[in-house]
Order: sequence, then structure tokens, then C-alpha cells
Amino acid sequence: MESIIPNLNDRDLAFKEAIDNIISNEVVPFIDEVEQGKIDIWDVLRQLGKHGLIGITYPREFGGYGGTYNQELLMTEALCYQSYPMDMSRGSSTYPASLIRIFGKTKLLRNYIDPLVKGEKIGSFCFTEPDAGSDLSRMKTIYEKDEKNDEFILNGEKRFIVNGSVADTLVVYARNGAFIIQSDWDGFEVIEEYSMMGLHGLHLGHLKFDNVRVPKENELYYREPKPSTEGTRKRRTEAISSMQQFLAPERAMMALQAICVAKRALDEAIRYSRERVQFNRPISEFEGISFKIAEMATNYEAGKALVQKSLQNMNDGALAAMAKLFACTNAFKICDDALQVLGGIGYTNKYPVERCLRDIRLSRIGGGTDEIMKYIIQKDIYKKLK
Ligand SMILES: Cc1cc2nc3c(=O)[nH]c(=O)nc-3n(C[C@H](O)[C@H](O)[C@H](O)COP(=O)(O)OP(=O)(O)OC[C@H]3O[C@@H](n4cnc5c(N)ncnc54)[C@H](O)[C@@H]3O)c2cc1C
Repeated sequence: MESIIPNLNDRDLAFKEAIDNIISNEVVPFIDEVEQGKIDIWDVLRQLGKHGLIGITYPREFGGYGGTYNQELLMTEALCYQSYPMDMSRGSSTYPASLIRIFGKTKLLRNYIDPLVKGEKIGSFCFTEPDAGSDLSRMKTIYEKDEKNDEFILNGEKRFIVNGSVADTLVVYARNGAFIIQSDWDGFEVIEEYSMMGLHGLHLGHLKFDNVRVPKENELYYREPKPSTEGTRKRRTEAISSMQQFLAPERAMMALQAICVAKRALDEAIRYSRERVQFNRPISEFEGISFKIAEMATNYEAGKALVQKSLQNMNDGALAAMAKLFACTNAFKICDDALQVLGGIGYTNKYPVERCLRDIRLSRIGGGTDEIMKYIIQKDIYKKLK
């Protein structure tokens, strides 16, 4: 697909050509088998890791590509156009690596980060709980300190965790702190791996932490430049709210992902409308179809413009919420309209449009629902008036 990322230079364009080739050869041939559960999604993603394409912005000595943020966006774009669950699994595995890199205090950081960046190990980040979805203040996961052994003891449950049931390294948020956990530690349990409407192949887990002992150096914290005088409890609260600020760039990224899935569906619909003949002419010659294509393309362009603006203002939370809300709701509509253009064959798995429609539905829920995006947007509007 033609890139929507602003300000690309020649190096970025060469990178795009290289990854398009790698994805065509090493991902696309396996998408159907991943979708049908015949191949594990991580068997495909590990191949990308060998090219440094799991953690693109990480230095080569970490196992990454040593690339720029624009190159990371190009990868997201190219992978989502082919397979949304692959890019979600990839991104959810490196997100904990970013958190560990920024908030970790252990000297062992590289032991955790490098395998995630190389794709040799799988990562997850865990906010959501059975009683805490949109309302994270209802989180029950909590730690106690074992002063004698210099450890934390973690208890709680997390659900809807991407990669959760296959993860090696998890960043887990508790009420009073955030921690790096390894899934082979005593007390960690996968309660369930969910079956889903879409995103087939992606591993979505419900996890339990039952008296998991966490070494002290595995606590994540907010490295405040100025010395804090208000004690560790305040610092930990800052740590969690500071990590949650990462949700704005994450949402801009989700908006980008959605717009790329929509572009795939739009391209398929345009192609099909020119090939399919009914009543002695291509269906593109009927306004019922061509006007639908016009609306889909307009919604795509509007979503693209908002996503581009958000990508250029990554820390603007309200703008990221607008981009996510608009891109995801319109991406869903574009995918649904695309299926309509394809008629009966669109409802089968002969074309990727039905997969796009099932996959894209998640984008209006994960990373914050449509309703929560509206809440963030209105809050920002009224706050500015105070
Ligand atoms: C495929 C998938 C992948 C995910 N990946 C991860 C992950 O990797 N890590 C992670 O931590 N979480 C993950 N999540 C969780 C996701 O972020 C939550 O599902 C989402 O935030 C909504 O929470 P909930 O499902 O508990 O819904 P609820 O919060 O129970 O909401 C139910 C409904 O009520 C509405 N609602 C709630 N509060 C309000 C309000 N104040 N005003 C108006 N409406 C409201 C919601 O919008 C929604 O329509 C994932 C979820 C899915 C399905």
C-alpha cells in the first residue's frame, strides 16, 4: 500500500521496499494457515525477528533494526495491510520492552529486552482485569512487600492480554506498582485462552498471579529527574500514571493500524467492483456501488488526515482519542461496505474482506472503547474552557 506516514526520506522509502518484499515472501504465504490454526502466529513472527523487524527502533546490538520511528510506523502499516493480528502480536510483545527500557531499574534489563526485540521471547502488557476494564481504578491486583527476602508478592488476575497465554515476559500493573514477571515463575497460571470473533491466531489470555514472588529489582518505576521528597508511595503512583501516558501514542498507533486494515478492504472492493459483471456491465458502473466506493474513499481520506495529525502530535491525548475514535469507527464501516460490494463471495473466506471486518471490530474496543475515547475528548474540551 502507498504509505500515509508523513515526511518520509529516501532511506525510509528504501526500507519500505525491503519490508514489503520480506512480508510478501515470509508472512503473506502463511496468513491463511495462521487464520486456520495450522501454524502458530509466532512461528511466522520469529522470522521477522531474524531480520530485526520485531523491535525496529532498537539498536542492532539489542537485536533490533536500529531504525527510526517512521520506519516502525512503516512496518505497522505494511503488516496491518496484510494481517492485523500479526501486527498486534508483534506490537504487544515489544511494548513491554519499551516500558522496561524506560522504567526498569534492574541491571538485568538487557536480559529481558533483547530476547523480546529479537522475537526469541514473547511479551505482554497487562492492565485489564475481570473487574477493571474501562475503569482501571477498580484494579485489584496488588503486591505486598516481603522485607525479609527483599521481594514483592503479587496477587491478582489479568484478562484480555494479547500474547498472554504464550508470553515469557510480562509487564504487570498492580494497584500499587508495576513489575516485570516471567511466566515460568511459581504462582503464574494461564486460566484460559479465549476464542475470538476475529484476530484468529492471536493468543488472548486470562492470567492469574497467585503469590508470585518478584525480586525487588523487577519493579518498574518513574525515573523522575528531580529528587522526590514525598516517599515511595507517591513515586509509585507517579510510575503508574506516567506509564499510562504511553496510552496516547499507543492509541495513535491503533488508529494507524485501523486505517491500514480499512485500506485493504477498500482496495479489494475497488478491484472487485471493476471485475464483477452483472446486468452486462461491471458493477462499478452502478451508482449504488460507485457512490459507496466514493463514500468509503472519503471516509478513508478523512481518517488518514486525522491519523497523520495525531502521529505528528503523539503526546496529545485528546487528539489521539479523536484519531482512534474516527479511524476505528470509519474503518469498521469501510470494511462492512467493502463486504457489501463483494456480495455473497465477500461473506466467504475467498477474499480477505470478511477477515478484515471481523478483525477490525476489535479496534473499537481494545486500547479504550469508542465511549471512553468520547469521554477523553469531551473532558479535554471542557478543561480548556476552565
Ligand atoms: C482482542 C483484545 C485485546 C486486548 N489486549 C489487551 C492487552 O494486551 N492488555 C490489556 O491490558 N488489555 C487488553 N484488552 C482489554 C481492552 O483494553 C478492554 O477490553 C477495554 O478497555 C474495555 O474494557 P472491558 O472489556 O472490561 O469493557 P467495560 O469497561 O466493561 O465496558 C463495557 C461497555 O461499557 C462502556 N462503558 C464503560 N464505562 C463507560 C463510561 N464511563 N461511559 C460510557 N460507556 C462506558 C464501554 O465503552 C463498553 O461499551 C484487550 C481486549 C481485547 C478484546
